[in-house]
Amino acid sequence: MDTILFFVAATLSILQAAIGLSFFVACIRELEARAAIFGAAQFLLMLGLVMAMFYLQATGFFAAGAGFLVLIFGLMIALGILAGLTWPIGSNPKALAGTRGLIVGQVTRVDERDIVFARNRTLRPGSEQYQAYYKLHPEYEQYDAARRKKGGPLGKPGSIDKPQDRPNVAATLASLSIPLHLSTPEKFNPSQHPEFNQQRIELSPRSASSRIKGYTLSIGAKLVGITEINPLWIYAKRGEIFHENWDDWGREIELNHRYAVVFATEMAFELVGTAPHSSTTIASMANYAGGAFIATQLAAYIANLGYSASANHLRHYDAALVPLAVDAGLGETGRLGYLMTKDFGPRVRLGAVTTDLPLIPDNPVDIGVEDFCRICKKCARCCPSNSIPLDDQEAVNGTRRWKLNAETCFDYWGKVGTDCNICMRVCPWSHANTLPHKLIRALITRNRYSRKLFNLMDEIFYGKKPKPKSAPEWARYE
Ligand code: SF4
Ligand code: SF4
Repeated sequence: MDTILFFVAATLSILQAAIGLSFFVACIRELEARAAIFGAAQFLLMLGLVMAMFYLQATGFFAAGAGFLVLIFGLMIALGILAGLTWPIGSNPKALAGTRGLIVGQVTRVDERDIVFARNRTLRPGSEQYQAYYKLHPEYEQYDAARRKKGGPLGKPGSIDKPQDRPNVAATLASLSIPLHLSTPEKFNPSQHPEFNQQRIELSPRSASSRIKGYTLSIGAKLVGITEINPLWIYAKRGEIFHENWDDWGREIELNHRYAVVFATEMAFELVGTAPHSSTTIASMANYAGGAFIATQLAAYIANLGYSASANHLRHYDAALVPLAVDAGLGETGRLGYLMTKDFGPRVRLGAVTTDLPLIPDNPVDIGVEDFCRICKKCARCCPSNSIPLDDQEAVNGTRRWKLNAETCFDYWGKVGTDCNICMRVCPWSHANTLPHKLIRALITRNRYSRKLFNLMDEIFYGKKPKPKSAPEWARYE
C-alpha cells in the first residue's frame, strides 16, 4: 500500500518539477528574467523534494508509523489543491449568450463618423463634411483640431524613439499601405470569377462552413468562427472615406448579409512586448495588412462560389468586429475593451467577411474573462492615460461592459507616435502560447480559484507594472 501511495506522490512531485522546468525554459525564451527565477526556484524545490522522497523511501520511512502518516497527509493536501484548481467552478452563463448577455437597455447603432479614428482620419478642415460634422458635434471641434496639429492619428509617427525610430516607422507604413490597396469596392465586394459562368456552386451549410473555416486558417488566420449577424453591431452610417469616395460619407449602411465569418491573427509576442515603442506598431500594422489579405481572399472565394460577400478590414468596416467576434465564439470582451481569446488573450487583430452564403453559426464561449478581469485590473493600472476603467462595468449604450475611453487613449497615441499597446503587453492573457501558459489558460478558463491564484502569481512573477522589453535586433528602438 505504502509503495503505491509513494509512487502516486512521487509522480505528482515529478510533474510539478517538470512544469517548473518547462516554465523556466519558456521564460528564458520570452526574455522574462524575473519569472525565470521563480520557474527555476520551483523546479529546484520540487527536484529537492523528489530526491528526499526517494531517499526516505529507500530507508523504509514511509512504510509505517509517522512516515506513513506524512505520506497520506502530503498526498491529501496535493490532491486537494489539484481538485480545487481544476474542478469546473465559476462558470458565467451570461458569456454563453454572447453580446446578447451584455444588453441591458436600448442599443443605438453606432454612427461610424463618431468614431475617433474616422473623425480624425477622414475630416479635412474647410471641407463640406468637416463643417457638417462639427455643426452637429461642436463639442469635438477644438479637441480634434488640437490633435490634428500634432500630425495625424499617430502624432509624429515613432516620436517616442526619435531619432532611432525611422526604420520602424518605414516598416509600419509599408504594412499600412496594404489595406488601402485592398479597399476599393471591387476588392472588398468582389464579383464571381468568369470561370464559373455566373453559376452557383451548391454546398450544404455544413460543408460550406467547414470549407470556409479551413480556407481561412490555411491563408494565415489563427482563429475563425461564424456568427449570424446581430444588426445592432452594423454601423448606422459610413464615416471612414478612402479613395475620395465622398458620396459615401454619412450614407446609411445597409447590409443584407445574414452571416459573418470572423477571424483573428496573432500579433508577434516579441514586438508587442516592446510596447509602447515604435517596434510594437510594426506588429499592429503587419496584422492589419494580414487581415486585409485574408479578408479580401476569403470574400473572393465566397464570391466565386456564387454568393455576395464583403471584406471587413482596416480600410473598410461595415460593422464593429469585437461584438461579432464574441458572438462567433472567438472569445470574450475584456476590461481593456478588446477581444480576449483563450490562446492569445488580446494579442490579436480581427478581420471579417459578411455574406449571404448559408453557414452554420458557432456558439459564444465562456472562458472566464469577466471574472478574471474583475480581479486583475492590470491594464487599467498600467494605462498611461487612465483610459481603462478601474471600476466595475457600467451601462453604455444599452450594454453593460467596461468602456475604454477612446478619446484619451488616442491622445496618448498622438503623444508617443505609436499605437501604444501597453494594455495588451501587460495583460496576463497575452503571454506566449507556450506549454506552461497553455496549462494555466486551461485552468483559469474552468476554475475560479485558479483565476485568483494565477492573477496573484502574475503580479509576483512579472511585476505590477512590467517594463517594455528590448526589441529583436531588426526592430531595435534604443
Ligand atoms: S493603448 Fe495605451 S493609452 Fe490606450 S488604453 Fe491601452 S494602455 Fe491606455
Ligand atoms: S490586464 Fe487584466 S483586467 Fe486587463 S484585460 Fe487583461 S486580464 Fe483583464
